[in-house]
Amino acid sequence: MGGTFRVGSGHDTHRLAEGRPLVLGGVRMSHPRGLAGHSDADVVLHAVTDALLGAAALGDIGDLFPDSDPTYKDCDSARFVTDAVARLNPDGWRVVNLDVTIFAQEPKLGPVKARIRDNIARLLGIAADAVNVKAKTGEGVGHIGRGEAIGCQATVLIEKKD
Ligand SMILES: [Zn+2]
Repeated sequence: MGGTFRVGSGHDTHRLAEGRPLVLGGVRMSHPRGLAGHSDADVVLHAVTDALLGAAALGDIGDLFPDSDPTYKDCDSARFVTDAVARLNPDGWRVVNLDVTIFAQEPKLGPVKARIRDNIARLLGIAADAVNVKAKTGEGVGHIGRGEAIGCQATVLIEKKD
């Protein structure tokens, strides 16, 4: 009984802009500004996608889903996560656990962390207790602290049984 393990990390930042919806981890939030980007700019699902691709040595989200491709204009970023998982599974990889940190001065994410966790777990097809979502402010400094952007960092472990 053994297995091969791989770790992957993902990081992303998007600018906050007027007239955009705010979607974090697939959960739409009520907020006066949202994230700017080609897709729905879900910074959390982008970081998760890059962590998955990184663990499996499959490149990055920009390689697979170029923002020059009109297919992805304003699209639901859940498709990036499910597509990445679909690329891992035929090689025998499955996700062991995921740890996510969201950096946002506002809105307050405490009330929605559990919903984001449950949604990501559903997209990955794993138990909710294998996913952790943490929220940090920018402590009032830098582009995140000034409320100009939201960032996210994700770390994932994948396993292939021998
Ligand atoms: Zn992104």
